Amino acid sequence: MSSPTPTTPSVYHPKHRSWWPKHDCVICGSKAIGINFGAPTCAPCKAFFRRNARRKEILQAPCPFRDINSPNLNNIDNNNDEKSKYCSQVRYCSSCRLRRCFDMGMKEELVRTDEENERYRQLVEINRQRRRQLLEQEQFEHVLAIPQQIVKTNDLLHETDWTHISNIVFTYETHCLKNYIQRRKNLFTTQMQIPDDACVKINYHSSSTVNNLTSFTSFLSSIPTVQTLSKFDRIYLCKHNIRPLILLNLHELEQLCYSEPWQLTCDNLSAEYVCGSNLYPEFVNTKHRAEQILITDPVVTRLWLLVLFFSTPLHCYYQQALPEIDTNQRRAIMKIQDTYITLLWKYLVHRHGDMGAIHIFSNLNGIYLQMQRISQAVNKQIRTRNDLSTLNEAFNRAVIIESDNQ
Ligand SMILES: [Zn+2]
Ligand SMILES: [Zn+2]
Repeated sequence: MSSPTPTTPSVYHPKHRSWWPKHDCVICGSKAIGINFGAPTCAPCKAFFRRNARRKEILQAPCPFRDINSPNLNNIDNNNDEKSKYCSQVRYCSSCRLRRCFDMGMKEELVRTDEENERYRQLVEINRQRRRQLLEQEQFEHVLAIPQQIVKTNDLLHETDWTHISNIVFTYETHCLKNYIQRRKNLFTTQMQIPDDACVKINYHSSSTVNNLTSFTSFLSSIPTVQTLSKFDRIYLCKHNIRPLILLNLHELEQLCYSEPWQLTCDNLSAEYVCGSNLYPEFVNTKHRAEQILITDPVVTRLWLLVLFFSTPLHCYYQQALPEIDTNQRRAIMKIQDTYITLLWKYLVHRHGDMGAIHIFSNLNGIYLQMQRISQAVNKQIRTRNDLSTLNEAFNRAVIIESDNQ
């Protein structure tokens, strides 16, 4: 006897779910409590996904509703009866529920394993205690130490490495992600009209990108290794390397935050205007490719952003050539970059094994090179087109860390 294969509902991409009422759990229709693992869900669906995201065998479990009721999802938005039937089916059948979670864009990678969660929790606590002790002893400079250099067992993450990783993940969350989500929420309550006027599009693009840039620089300013740089070096890196990271940073934010369809329309229309019609298709293509091949793991992307920040100039966007930094300063920056590459590599090997690490690392490189090409082309538009000059100035201002401006 063949095992029953559940009927596969048509796939609803999370970005095309306008048919589902706002603020409802997209899995079961109850009241949503927030964005969980990539989709707006209620608490039980959140808990369900946390428990079961890695248990793929559930998808093969027999479905009690299979022969009784196989709803046509395309008609659900017009048919309350069908919808409530489908919702109870999802609530009572784990197989249907899990499939729907994946269909609605919930991401397994965003679920930390219990073991890791416990470890993170402990490390954050240990770190907090250490900080307190150090502060008491007035030895604050010790907290600014950079990650441990690679040791013999390079596949092992040390206690200090975990502390660094969790600091980076949480600092990004505090400065970038919360800010982005808050902004999306604000826009949500004051729904703006879909822009058709060029000025409106430029302003929309400017304010959302500047907002992301500002929170990214405030994230950087809270990273100990960035604080240890001289002001000169820091400004040098900020001016050269932050604008090339706009797209990668945006990718990270978009993956973790649900957007209303009209918000995406605003995003797209304004990006299309700024890119120009020749570049826009490649811009869209790059974003799609990133969604497909980049692993959704907050540790990986955030470390990768730091690796790239501590590079020799990615591209010079600044109007006048900046004075060069000398060889010693350059070496010091490379040394910091090395520690982040090592940390990223150790994490990848720890989490995904040797082959997985190689695979993910080469994907990161590939997609970033593609992003770099399109960023360079788009930034050329921004630097040279008259209608975008205010955008260019706003970007240049936003890449400087606030305290460096004085
Ligand atoms: Zn639910
Ligand atoms: Zn089922």
